[in-house]
Amino acid sequence: MYDVRSLKAEEFIDHEEILETLEYAEANKHNKELVEEILEKARPKKTGRGVECAGLSHKDASVLLACDLPEMTEKIYSLAREIKDAFYGDRIVMFAPLYLSNYCVNKCVYCPYHMQNKEIPRKKLTQEEVRQEVIALQDMGHKRLAIEAGEDPVNNPLEYILECIKTIYSIKHKNGAIRRVNVNIAATTVENYHKLKEAGIGTYILFQETYHKESYETLHPAGPKHNYAYHTEAMDRAMEGGIDDVGLGVLFGLDKYKYEFAGLLMHAEHLEAVHGVGPHTISVPRLKRAADIDPGQFDNGIDDDTFAKIIACIRIAVPYTGMIISTRENESCREKVMKLGISQISGGSRTSVGGYAGYSAEERPHDTEQFDVSDQRSLDEVVKWLMEGGYIPSFCTACYREGRTGDRFMALCKVGQIQNCCHPNALLTLQEYLQDYASPETRKLGEELIDREILKVPDPKRREKALGYLEKIRNGERDFRF
Ligand code: SF4
Ligand code: SF4
Repeated sequence: MYDVRSLKAEEFIDHEEILETLEYAEANKHNKELVEEILEKARPKKTGRGVECAGLSHKDASVLLACDLPEMTEKIYSLAREIKDAFYGDRIVMFAPLYLSNYCVNKCVYCPYHMQNKEIPRKKLTQEEVRQEVIALQDMGHKRLAIEAGEDPVNNPLEYILECIKTIYSIKHKNGAIRRVNVNIAATTVENYHKLKEAGIGTYILFQETYHKESYETLHPAGPKHNYAYHTEAMDRAMEGGIDDVGLGVLFGLDKYKYEFAGLLMHAEHLEAVHGVGPHTISVPRLKRAADIDPGQFDNGIDDDTFAKIIACIRIAVPYTGMIISTRENESCREKVMKLGISQISGGSRTSVGGYAGYSAEERPHDTEQFDVSDQRSLDEVVKWLMEGGYIPSFCTACYREGRTGDRFMALCKVGQIQNCCHPNALLTLQEYLQDYASPETRKLGEELIDREILKVPDPKRREKALGYLEKIRNGERDFRF
């Protein structure tokens, strides 16, 4: 029985509720009046507190996703762009993944790290290797990492992850620093989430992979991850353990996308209903080729247009949730979906264990890669490309360091006020990047952009302060924020 507040996975992701939702969406997909009504409900509105968006229920959002009338699809895209603009402006936050270990006791059939893959070399970074990787990432200009590790209580116990986090935060190479470590590791206990919180992590990210329980069990035939309920209820335990920024995600291509979309939004609604705060981010990975894995063996793959539509509909349904896309996607796909709602992208990524240190921008080791990287450009090339496309690359990590997490963050976000911090912070962190890491062409382009953008900070006092900070950064000081 569907119950958004239940703590049981099968009740807050109720299979029957999803089927009814899909049936309703199918029956109404050409109901123009209803589609218009839903779009109107979701449109940003000016209130006494700022600009607010109501978001959409999984049921309403599923109607938008199902609707295939070209003129309505255009309206959906246009609203997604409007919402993106109202809450995220032109900023794109940058991050990089850091793979710590590919030891894994699970058998996920879509991942080359599954334990039965005897072809792939197994590797786990020592603390010295973590140090080398972090220095390489800092030297590229990264400030925000997402650490990744397979599930293996013997080789990668939580103590190992905690030690790595400590090492990462401790490294200050030249002007570099990793200021936010997001963590993408297997579902664990409340006690362990508490320890991660104590270690100062940013967002705890765990992809659901698929919300379809039966498929989930087939795709995860053995290992601790086989337990659908334990995996699906992980975010509730994380929140109980004190982590208030959690990141959801589905691996599109495993099951039917409309089912996943409804499940994903039901999960977001559940977190909001039970904990008072929805997901901080949603990731939208698509299944990719990797050693031992051929995406062709899964028949639920989605094309670029469907992918874009999903992103637009998520943007409309959960306007305050950051949306992440990785280098799994190529340049042109990334370009298209950024306009529709993506707020964070990775750049210069390596998806292998120990893929950064000792390699030039052109070289990339493939032996332990988790998936093929489609966008192989360096961080400097991505930053330049973003600016040429009218975006402001941001290396900001201010919120978590200012204690603006969970409901404190959402309260500011929901009235569009967070922008007063995001915009100047993007410019300050971009200035740091330009000063310390950028190529001469990127730097030139960036400084022109900052000179233009700083004048757009609406509050004169804040603008004055930001100008002062920029001057200090140009004179060698670092780490200013609003
Ligand atoms: S997806 Fe994660 S849990 Fe599954 S095999 Fe790969 S690393 Fe292990
Ligand atoms: S101010 Fe906060 S929400 Fe805005 S970019 Fe920085 S960390 Fe993100």
